Parts: sequence; structure tokens; C-alpha cells
Amino acid sequence: MAEKLTAVKGMNDILPPESARWEWFEDKVRALMRRYGYANVRTPVVEPTALFVRGLGEVTDIVEKEMYSFTDSMNGDQLTLRPEATAGIVRAMVEHNALYNGPLRVWTMGAVFRHERPQKGRYRQFHQIDVEALGYCGPDVDAEQILMCRALWQELGLVEGEDVRLEINSLGQADERRQHREALIAHFEAHASVLDEDARRRLHSNPLRILDSKNPAMQSIVESAPQLMSFLGEASLAHLNAVRAILDAAGLAYRVNPRLVRGMDYYNLTVFEWVTDKLGSQGTVCGGGRYDGLFEQLGGKPTPAVGWGLGVERLLLLLEAVGPVIAPPVPDAYAVIPDAAALPVAMCTLQALRAAGVNVQMHAGTGEGRGSMKSQLKKADASGARHALIFGADELAQNLVAVKSLRDGSGQQVMQPLADVSGWAATLQSLT
Ligand code: ATP
Ligand code: MG
Repeated sequence: MAEKLTAVKGMNDILPPESARWEWFEDKVRALMRRYGYANVRTPVVEPTALFVRGLGEVTDIVEKEMYSFTDSMNGDQLTLRPEATAGIVRAMVEHNALYNGPLRVWTMGAVFRHERPQKGRYRQFHQIDVEALGYCGPDVDAEQILMCRALWQELGLVEGEDVRLEINSLGQADERRQHREALIAHFEAHASVLDEDARRRLHSNPLRILDSKNPAMQSIVESAPQLMSFLGEASLAHLNAVRAILDAAGLAYRVNPRLVRGMDYYNLTVFEWVTDKLGSQGTVCGGGRYDGLFEQLGGKPTPAVGWGLGVERLLLLLEAVGPVIAPPVPDAYAVIPDAAALPVAMCTLQALRAAGVNVQMHAGTGEGRGSMKSQLKKADASGARHALIFGADELAQNLVAVKSLRDGSGQQVMQPLADVSGWAATLQSLT
């Protein structure tokens, strides 16, 4: 036998029955987006490398260490598998002048790629739900997006404050960050002996990034570092307070975490993360914030914007730990076709039932043939279907099919006409 091939390390296959949870989750997300008026967008998985270097910042974990970048062997272009969705969406908006008629609320869902050490909740290909409000400057949209996450948690059966908690912060504006940066450099220079290699390299290029360090040996100097909050001017504080007033009115508890900085350079003003204690060190399920400067940085007109990204794998791990059990969907009906001569009539009937919206399966031929009536009925039972459709020779001779009830304990059998499938199709469908 030929050697087996395996998936790339850190990149997962999602198969049944696990995929049922994914579909259940995606259905909830789609419904949520419709309720909040967010329109779907899809952008390419591969983008020019320069988009992420310029968009996310050269001195960030993602750009320095985590991107899958390669040269297109056909034409020499420098390309990268997207490590996040926002930069590509902004590129598309600028390229197509999509905000010409006014602001837009958009969302997308798909795979992103980061070369990290794979572990539970951390993969090299993972999936994000990404939500962006483009062209809005007010704190109301920041709050709307946070409340939208909360609505999703409720929809999924997660308990706010227990399973997921909100942390928020403000990163102010560029001039405020500049002053803070000076103070940060002075602070870290005074503790130079404790800095690790990353931190030493970033000390002058991007000291804010040091605050995002996960190195336990540096936690105490990170904690004692000057806080950006104390450099915020009136307008930045007013923006933060306006967001907070809406969250307070909505009764949403949160912690202002002055050390929350997020991993990309494009953020300003509001930033937030939804965190959980139930997934060990991979505790952030969703993160976002305002990025008013990104459009300009990517060659567009100044355009205020705010968005969030949710890690689907992490959220599903959390749901597995604390959420409802999601059973794979069961068919409405299962066809039992004892004699192969009945296949043409039976399969045409199944097509008509499916066209009428009925979820119906049949036991198709296998290596050992189709099996006896008894074994097919067993398969029907095991499928979880509510009804068996029995295409026996006697019934077919009268242009009928026997519909046997499998779940209500009655074992009741009703004859239905083959000629009028749409007349009885609805009786097979579950009301749940
Ligand atoms: P972390 O601090 O855990 O590395 P991050 O700040 O890099 O997360 P973001 O860039 O904000 O993450 O991405 C949004 C969400 O995507 C995260 O909150 C998380 O749920 C998820 N995520 C990030 N990296 C990974 C990964 N390698 N595997 C699985 N999910 C991830
Ligand atoms: Mg990361």
C-alpha cells in the first residue's frame, strides 16, 4: 500500500459528528448578523505580504514570527496566507471604493493562518468570525459590537461573568501613545536586565508590544509600567466613558484593564477582549477595537472603523466544556427498499419528498448488497429517523408506500399514495 499522507501539523480536519456543532454555531452567527444588519463579505485567503506588514505593524508577533509567507513561483510576488481578516477587508473596501455611498457594517467567517506552536486552543490554521463597522466614529458602534457579542453568548447558552468576561481599555490617540511610549521606554530601560530578547529588540521600535508579552519572568515589570490611561486627553476619555455609559445601562459587567493592548498596531481608542478561565492559558475567545487610522495606512481616505474577531475553535472548546450538547441532525424518514426492482420507483419518490423539504435517507448498496428487510429496518431505527418508508412489493403493486412510525412506540403503519407525495410529505417533517 502507498504511504499515507497526513494533514499539516496544527491544521485540523473537521469531520462528523464534530462538524454538527460547527454548523449549529454558524447558523446562530448568521442569524445574529442579520439581526444587527451586518452584510456578508468574503475576501481572498492569500494577500500581498505588504498588506499585513503595513497594516498590522512590522514589530508585532504576527508579522515577525507567525506569517505563512511565500514567493509565487510563477511571477515572484511576495504573498501571505492571511493571519487575520481586518486588513484584507479594508484593502477590499479601499480598492472598490465600497464606502462611496456611506458607512457599511460587514462580517465574514473563514480560515486564518499563523505559524505558532500547536496546542489545545492554538492552531496553525484556525477560523475566525470577523465583524467590522466601517465609516462610523461614534462610541455607540463600539458599544453595539460589544453588546452583539453578548447577544451571541446568550444565544449559545454561555453565562456572562462565569463562562466569559469582558475586559476593555482605551489606547487613546497617536500623540497620547507617543507620550506614553517615552515613559515606557524610560521604565523598561531602568529594568533592562529583566528584559528578554524580544523585549530588548522592541524597546525602541515598539515598546507598547512589550506589554503584550506572555513571558512570566517579565510580568512584574509589565505590571509596574506606566499606564496609557494616565496619558489620555479629554476627548479620548470622553469616548471611553460614552462606551462605558452604554454598557452600564445595559447591565453588562466589565473590567477596565489598563494593560490590555491587543496584538496589532492598528488599534486606537476602545479595545476589548472577551476572556474565559475555562480554557487554561488560551483564555481569549474574542478581541476587538477601534482602528481609525488603518484605511489611511492602506492608501484609503481617513475612515473611522471598529471591529472584532472571534476564534471559532476556542469558542467551540468552551461550548464543549460548558454549553449544550449538540446532537447531529436526524433524518425525518429512512427508506427501506427490500427488492432492487423497486429502486426506480422508490428513488423517484424520495426525490419528490426531498423537493418538498423532507430530510430522507436510504440504505444504499454496499459491498454485501442492500441487506434484508429486517436489517434495513434496523438501519432505519439506528439512524434516529422518525419514520421508515417501506417500499415493499405488495404496497408498490397498489401504488402505495407504507409509512411506519419509529419513535412514538406505536409502530403504527399508514399507507400513502405514491402519486401524491406533496399531499403527505409534511406529515413526515419534525415540528422541532
Ligand atoms: P492570543 O493572545 O491567544 O495569541 P491573539 O491576541 O493573537 O490571541 P487575535 O489576533 O485577537 O488573537 O485573534 C482573535 C481570536 O482568534 C483570539 O481571541 C482567539 O480566540 C483566536 N486565536 C488567535 N490565535 C489563535 C490560534 N493560533 N489558534 C486558534 N485560535 C486563535
Ligand atoms: Mg497571538
